[in-house]
Parts: sequence; structure tokens; C-alpha cells
Amino acid sequence: MEAYIYCAALYCEDCGDSIKSDLMGSALDDGDSGSYPQGPYSDGGGESDCPDHCDSCRLFLENPLTSYGYDYVRELLLDHAETGRGAADVLAEWRVFYDMDDGLDEFVDSYIECALWSSNDESDESGGEPFDENYSAADIDDVSLESMCRDCTRFFYANFSDIESDFKQAGHDFWLTRNGHGAGFWDGDWKEPAATHLTDASEVFGECNLYLGDDGRIYI
Ligand SMILES: [Zn+2]
Repeated sequence: MEAYIYCAALYCEDCGDSIKSDLMGSALDDGDSGSYPQGPYSDGGGESDCPDHCDSCRLFLENPLTSYGYDYVRELLLDHAETGRGAADVLAEWRVFYDMDDGLDEFVDSYIECALWSSNDESDESGGEPFDENYSAADIDDVSLESMCRDCTRFFYANFSDIESDFKQAGHDFWLTRNGHGAGFWDGDWKEPAATHLTDASEVFGECNLYLGDDGRIYI
């Protein structure tokens, strides 16, 4: 998206054009962004340490991010997952544009899959069958599912640099490690120091178990 720079602020193309019309007759384009809108520049004014928005209408300018900018967005997403702070619609727009969503979805799906595979439904005295024999994620109670997704989101953004791109394995190992199973981040598949960081971070979340409610839904 193209953007104008004017008086140390960024404007979308429409707002920049409208400032130019307002200045018609009173200011000339002297090539100085302090007195006249300069641009339009491509890529929302260029790479930046944060997502830029038009200073007038707040339109997202779709500028590329520096690596610091990616860390910054991840910090905001983590803070939002933990505290609810920040505008959910703006954060969602950034997540999609900067392609930060794909890994998280894979991570969450794998976490839930592992929970159903490694937990039994206690349908008989010997513990019954693994949930994934007869149930799927659709059988998990809404509030429980939300809580599982929230834990995943918090873990994912807080440990993104250690997870790198192995999202599926990470979701699987997060469930196993936090519940003290016989496999997990520590069992040799992950390089150090990531393996230790991820193990410690999982243990902070503590144990949680799936169980079958009287209504046939799965709870945590
Ligand atoms: Zn605008």
C-alpha cells in the first residue's frame, strides 16, 4: 500500500491526497515533508520496527517489518493472550498480513490431537480407551477448548524463537511435557538450549487432564 509522509506522520494515499487538496493555494511542494506531503511511497512508507497505520483514518499501511518489528508484534499478541489488552481486530489484521497465524493453528491442532491420543476415557476399570478412538476435538466442551487454545497461544508466542518452525512437534511436546509423560521437549529431538527452555516453560503451565463429563462432552 502506498503512503505519504507529512509533518513526521504517515498517511494513506486517500488522506495524503486530501491534505494536498486542503493545502492547495496556501503551500507549495518544496520537497520538504515538514511543509508538504511527500510521496506516495510504496510498501506503506517502507520497512519499520512496528506495523504503521495512517495517522488520520488509522488504515493499516501494510509496511514490511524488521526482525525487531516481528518480535514487537509477537510481544503484543502474547500480552493480548494473557491479559486481553490491545485491540483484537487490529492484532488479528497484523497476524494475517504478517503470516503469523499458520504456525499457531498447526501448534494448537497438534496439541489437541496429542491430548486426545494420550488421555483415556475411563470407560472401564482398566482406564478405558484413548479418547481419540471414539472422540474428536468437536467433542471438547467450548470453555475447555478455549482454555486449551489460550494456553497454546501464550506458550507459542512466549517461546516462538525456540520453537522455530517445528510447530506440529512443538504442540505435541507441549502437552506431553506439561503433563510429565515419558516423552517431550527433553527427550533428544530438540537441540539445546531450546530443549531446556521449552521444557522449563512447559512445566510452568503445570499438569492438566481431560475427563469425560456425564453429558458425554470432554472437559479439562
Ligand atoms: Zn488514511
